[in-house]
Amino acid sequence: MATEITADRRTIHEQPELAYEETQTAALVAGRLRQLGIETASGIAGTGVVGLIKGGRPGKTVLLRADMDALPILEQVESGHRSRVDGKMHACGHDGHTAMLLAAARLLQERRDDIAGNVKLMFQPAEEHGTRGGALPMIEAGLLDAPRVDAAFALHVDAAHEAGQIALRSGPTMAAADRFTVMVRGRGGHAARPHQTVDPIVVAAQMITAMQTLVSREVSPVQQAVVTVGSLDAGTAFNVIPDSARLRGTVRTYQPEIRDLIERRLKELTMGMAAAMRASAEVEYVRGYPPIVNHESGVEAVRRVAVEAAGEAQTVEQEMLMGAEDFSYVLQRVPGAMFYLGVRPMGAAEMRPTHSPIFDLDESALPLGTAVLAATALGYLAAG
Ligand SMILES: [Zn+2]
Ligand SMILES: [Zn+2]
Repeated sequence: MATEITADRRTIHEQPELAYEETQTAALVAGRLRQLGIETASGIAGTGVVGLIKGGRPGKTVLLRADMDALPILEQVESGHRSRVDGKMHACGHDGHTAMLLAAARLLQERRDDIAGNVKLMFQPAEEHGTRGGALPMIEAGLLDAPRVDAAFALHVDAAHEAGQIALRSGPTMAAADRFTVMVRGRGGHAARPHQTVDPIVVAAQMITAMQTLVSREVSPVQQAVVTVGSLDAGTAFNVIPDSARLRGTVRTYQPEIRDLIERRLKELTMGMAAAMRASAEVEYVRGYPPIVNHESGVEAVRRVAVEAAGEAQTVEQEMLMGAEDFSYVLQRVPGAMFYLGVRPMGAAEMRPTHSPIFDLDESALPLGTAVLAATALGYLAAG
């Protein structure tokens, strides 16, 4: 099925759509599922699609997930299937996820008479949204009910591993991801008369430096946390001190108590520093996705299949990641696992990381991903 999977991936790659705008992609998915004779519901939580493959005999229900959204990135990879939309790009491999799940759907639908139970297919919008991802609204719309889902699996491509590899990890695997905005208000004026102003840029600079101590001095060195300021907006001219400065950033953690600690201390630190420097600060802290915690039973179900499909040597341990994924909302409710498909071209030294304009995946890896998805579902249902 390599030709079919690659063709689908390229079609989706050429027409990237951002969070909650995945209308063409959803139409392609729903059309294909219906063509295969799979019971399909579309327009779930906006642009989500759910398919239900009913086995020939009664049994449990297993869910497989793909995500459909792209990122606001201008693609720099030259290829015949380059993004046709300037400023939008499938830089996280969700084009591949959707193509692989469509192929797995075909494999499973063709074997449905031999299946005891059901396979639910989740094609979600807006995984990249960060705070209002597509998974939770799909769950709220009844994704995990009727028939009730007993276990769930999802695959994500990973440029850190070579094509041909499957990476697995039990327990905490991806972080909780929050975002914050600090609005620093000072008093603007002439750049040559700073004593008559309250310079918000100097205050913001001190805050950024002080924030580095949240992780290095306040979180235990054996725990994981990241505080990154990714955006600093202030001023419009070289010789004018502006009225305000805005910092935006992200916090990544695993433990709830560390998440609470950083949220509280980030506010205390920035507001205290603003006061000390005659400015004021407002802090908005928005909690995003919870961490991905893989269930041991789910990881073992994938491992059995991966060892058979990829080989023992190519089934590797995934390291803890500080990225986030809203499949975590599913894994909070049903057992299962997210696993990783290596997509770095074999022998390639250069990393082409996800979320970069040069991200590219080795399409020869896609059939393995399809096989592991489909066989994990079959194996789980066969075990009863
Ligand atoms: Zn991503
Ligand atoms: Zn992703």
